[in-house]
Amino acid sequence: MTIAPKSHGRISARPTLKPRELITDTPDLAGAWTAQIITLFPQAFPGVLGESLTGKALQDGRWQLQTYDLRDYGIGKHRNVDDTPAGGGAGMVLRADVLEAAIVDARRAARGVMPLIYLSPRGPRFDQKMAQTWAGTDGVTLLCGRFEGVDERVLDHFGIQEVSLGDFVLTGGEIAAQAMIDATVRLLPGVLGNADSAVEESFSAGLLEHPQYTKPAEWQGHTIPDVLLSGNHAKIAEWRKAEGERITKERRPDLWADYKQPG
Ligand code: SAH
Repeated sequence: MTIAPKSHGRISARPTLKPRELITDTPDLAGAWTAQIITLFPQAFPGVLGESLTGKALQDGRWQLQTYDLRDYGIGKHRNVDDTPAGGGAGMVLRADVLEAAIVDARRAARGVMPLIYLSPRGPRFDQKMAQTWAGTDGVTLLCGRFEGVDERVLDHFGIQEVSLGDFVLTGGEIAAQAMIDATVRLLPGVLGNADSAVEESFSAGLLEHPQYTKPAEWQGHTIPDVLLSGNHAKIAEWRKAEGERITKERRPDLWADYKQPG
């Protein structure tokens, strides 16, 4: 089936395709924010990113995914990608030469400013500020490790930044990549339905979010704070700010200290 391009300036925008089919080996949407993923498990993408707001935005061409299957760059008949650690010990390490070939391919296809990142528990922890920085770039190249990780030389050679999802160890970088892409893509223009929702939510103003309520007005004997039903928007804004401050102060003294004294 041939599908006509939807808009000018792009090679094609095919709204009828499912998110999985939108992943191609070649840049498709000129100018769309691009997540390049180097992984042994390309079939894990878009995964949950194909659902809801991020999935809709993927279909709408507001961002795109390019996966690079490490197995394609493997060595010999068995397409080996890993080997035993120098110095001995448990597990396997992804080979520098195999990673190099995939990284060179991805970077050749990269356009504009695209940080090159290795998902790794040794990196600084990903946070909202990093998501905002990434949303301001043309995309990211994310290298997902597996087993014991990657040969250190490849990190030095390409000047790869390490970024962690948190202080725990995953079996691979794919879930971390999806979490970071999700947090970034929702900040791109037009991805969230209501443009205000990214401004008001947790972290964006340095505070955690105030409590939220919806119908029914009374549930299991619990009511909704009167002020939220008052229709007085100034009072509602004041209450929300005070609640955001209270919750931040109680739960995150670190964020509270930064909020009171930025920098
Ligand atoms: N031996 C390594 C852990 C390897 S875990 C160590 O002790 O540091 C296998 C892969 O999972 C890693 O190469 C990395 O890409 C990914 N990974 C594990 N934990 C992660 C985390 N907290 N954040 C991001 N990626 C992680």
